[in-house]
Amino acid sequence: MLAAIAERNAYELALENFDIAADAMELEGDIREMIKFPERVLTVNIPVKMETGRVKHFEAYRVQHSTVRGPGKGGIRYHPNVTLDEVKALAMWMTWKCAVVNIPFGGAKGGVTCNPKALSQVELEHITRRYTAAILPLIGPEQDIPAPDVYTNSQTMAWIMDTYSMIKGYPIPGVVTGKPICLGGSLGRNEATGRGVFYTVRSACELLGLPLKGSKVVVQGFGNAGSIAAQLLHGAGAFVIAVNDTTGGIYNSRGFDIPAVIAFKEQTGSVVGFPGSEPIKPEQLLALECDILIPAALENAVHEDNAHRVRAKIVGEAANGPLTPTADAILEDKGVFIIPDILCNAGGVTVSYFEWVQDLQHLFWDAQDVYNRLERVMNTAFNDVLKIRKDRKVAMRAAANMLGIGRVAEGVRIRGLYP
Ligand code: NAD
Repeated sequence: MLAAIAERNAYELALENFDIAADAMELEGDIREMIKFPERVLTVNIPVKMETGRVKHFEAYRVQHSTVRGPGKGGIRYHPNVTLDEVKALAMWMTWKCAVVNIPFGGAKGGVTCNPKALSQVELEHITRRYTAAILPLIGPEQDIPAPDVYTNSQTMAWIMDTYSMIKGYPIPGVVTGKPICLGGSLGRNEATGRGVFYTVRSACELLGLPLKGSKVVVQGFGNAGSIAAQLLHGAGAFVIAVNDTTGGIYNSRGFDIPAVIAFKEQTGSVVGFPGSEPIKPEQLLALECDILIPAALENAVHEDNAHRVRAKIVGEAANGPLTPTADAILEDKGVFIIPDILCNAGGVTVSYFEWVQDLQHLFWDAQDVYNRLERVMNTAFNDVLKIRKDRKVAMRAAANMLGIGRVAEGVRIRGLYP
C-alpha cells in the first residue's frame, strides 16, 4: 500500500513511497539511484527591508527534483511551515505528476518560510523580487518554470516575471505560469485544477456505473479547486449537498445552486449563512453519506480518527495529500474508489504547460481550445492509470505512482548516463 503525504516528515514519506512503487515495478537499482533524489537544491537567505525600515531575513528554497523529461516545473509556496524537506517532497511529487499527465516537464518546487498573512503587499513584493534574484541562476523558460502555490498568486507571478525580465533585459513571460492574462497568462488556467478534478471524477463515475446526474457530492474547502469542481459537477446535474471553508460549512439535502454560493462567498467572504442552508461542522461534513467526496483544502484532512466515518463511494483528491497513509488504507479496505492527487489535481499543471507553450509561440488559444485539450489529457491519464491498476492489480494511488515513475525511468534509460 502506497502512502499519501502525512503528518510524518514529508520527504521521508516521499522516499518511502518511491521505494514501494519501485519495488512493485521491480525497477533496476541503477535507475533508482538516478531518479530518486533531487538534482539540485538551493537554499537562500533573503534580506528584505520591511515597512518598519528594518531588515529581516527569510529562508527560502528552490528544489529541482528532476529535469529528465524537460524543464523543472512547480509552484512557489509562502507559508510559515515551509521547510527544505517539504519543498523536496513537493518537488518529487511534481516529477511524478507531470509524468502521469505526460507533459514534457520535470518536477520542481520553491518556498519561502514566512507568514504572508502578517505581511503587507509591499513586503510581499520585496520578498518576491529578492527571492527571484536569489534563485535566478536556476529558473528560466528552458530550465525551471515556477507557478503559484499556497499563498502565492498571479500577482506574485507578475513580480517574478518582471524581476527576471529586468535582469535579463527583455520581457520573458515564459519564465512563470499562472500569470495575469494581460502578461501572457492562459485562458482557463484559473479554473484548470477544478476542471481536471471534474473530468477525473466523471471518468470514475463512468467506470463504477454511477450516474453523475443525480449523484450526491460533498466538497471540503471551497477555494479555487473546490468551488470550480463543485460548479462543474453541479452543471452536470450532481447535487452538491455540503461545502465548507475555514469559516464554517453549509448543508442542504436537495443540493445547492453552486454559482449562487460562489457569488455569496464573493460578497460575504464566507459560505456560512447561505440562504436555505443548515450549518454543518467539519467532522459531520466528512461523514455525510454521499457518492463523491472532494477534499479540496489542505493535507491530512482525512486521518486515522475520521476515515472510518467517511461514507463516500469516490474520493477525488483535489488537494495535495488530503489522506494520511492510515486513512488511505482504511478507505481502500472499505472499497472507496480513490482518485489520487497526482492524477486528480493535475489539471492545473497541465494548463500551466499550455500557458508555457502559448508564451513560447506568442500565439494564444481561446478558452474552449484549452478546455478541449485539457479534457483529452485528463481522460488519457485516467485511462493510463486505470490500465496499470488492472494489469498489476494495485490501487489507483499505486498505479499513478508506477505510471509516473515508470515514465521518468524510461526517459533516463533512453538518455543514458554521462560517464
Ligand atoms: P485556495 O486557497 O483557493 O482554497 C482553499 C480553501 O480551503 C479555502 O476556501 C479555505 O478556506 C479552505 N480550507 C482551508 N482549511 C480548511 C479546513 N480545515 N476545512 C475546510 N476548508 C478549509 O486553495 P486552492 O488553490 O483551491 O488549493 C486547495 C488545494 O488544492 C491545496 O491542497 C493545493 O495544493 C491543491 N492544488 C491546487 C491547485 C491549483 O491550481 N489551485 C493545483 C494543484 C493542487
